[in-house]
Amino acid sequence: MLKRAIRRLKENTPERELLERELFLAEAGIRGEKRLQKKFVEFYSSEPFEILWNTSLTLGNWPVQIDGLLLTQKVAVILESKNISGELHFETRTGEFFRNDVNGVKTIMDNPAVQVEKHMRFIRMWFAENKIPLPVDGMLVFTALKAELCSLPQNTRTCRHHHMIELLFKTIEEYPSSTQQNRHALKKYRKIIENQLTPYIQKPIAVQYSMDPHLFKRGIYCEACKTFNVARERRRWQCDACGITSLTAGEEAVLDYFAIFGFQANNEKLRTFLNVDDRHIVKRLLSQEILTKEGSRRHSKYSLNEGKTLQE
Ligand SMILES: [Zn+2]
Repeated sequence: MLKRAIRRLKENTPERELLERELFLAEAGIRGEKRLQKKFVEFYSSEPFEILWNTSLTLGNWPVQIDGLLLTQKVAVILESKNISGELHFETRTGEFFRNDVNGVKTIMDNPAVQVEKHMRFIRMWFAENKIPLPVDGMLVFTALKAELCSLPQNTRTCRHHHMIELLFKTIEEYPSSTQQNRHALKKYRKIIENQLTPYIQKPIAVQYSMDPHLFKRGIYCEACKTFNVARERRRWQCDACGITSLTAGEEAVLDYFAIFGFQANNEKLRTFLNVDDRHIVKRLLSQEILTKEGSRRHSKYSLNEGKTLQE
């Protein structure tokens, strides 16, 4: 969704720079999570365990996403991955967290240890509501290749990813053995969690970042020359600027609209956004499988199918 929005914003504008920064952070986060998952294969144990990745749950209106949730016979451990490079400092006195990058620039960030504590509190309540009788612990794992932990938070287990497995075993050791939690019980808890996963719904970009709709370029995007000059020519999409044809440019532009402005559209709004005059062309574009139609004829409204999210 960010990529779809970024390509429609003018270069060197604060809005585009903001979204590019958000995209950079999101991609770094995903890389970090992959690194953590890869490291986890070294968690080899004769005792039964279950591991869940990217678990989205809610309590009332409170949604959380847990990077890793390990269920063992003794304890459940939350794994929180943070991909931040540089010298990392936890200030005990103030509770602040900051990093100094290679150029010596200091950036204060949200303290990730607080997030671990918050997620532990969440999972404890969630387990209580769902009758999962496991104690809950948590761990902050820094996944950047160039990260130096200069000081640690006081109450949160923290390590770099190559120490994670050792710290995990050490954490589990601290809990008394339980005879009730066998392999079967852990599988049951996993099922309980999986049955209540709530997919994270990203708000449309213009809404999420309060951006003026006029900032976004109209038209249909050409992947080849990166302009918005694609038009319908003889039953295919062709770029007026570079001449390249595409099978999906129109459909992609419709998905741009949903990513930026929201999950409901009608023919008129899309004609304006795509710079297409012909309502029948737009109508065909709106018959994609990913979309649901409500109402009929000129009053039709279209939205993304329930549960569908735009991955790009
Ligand atoms: Zn082109």
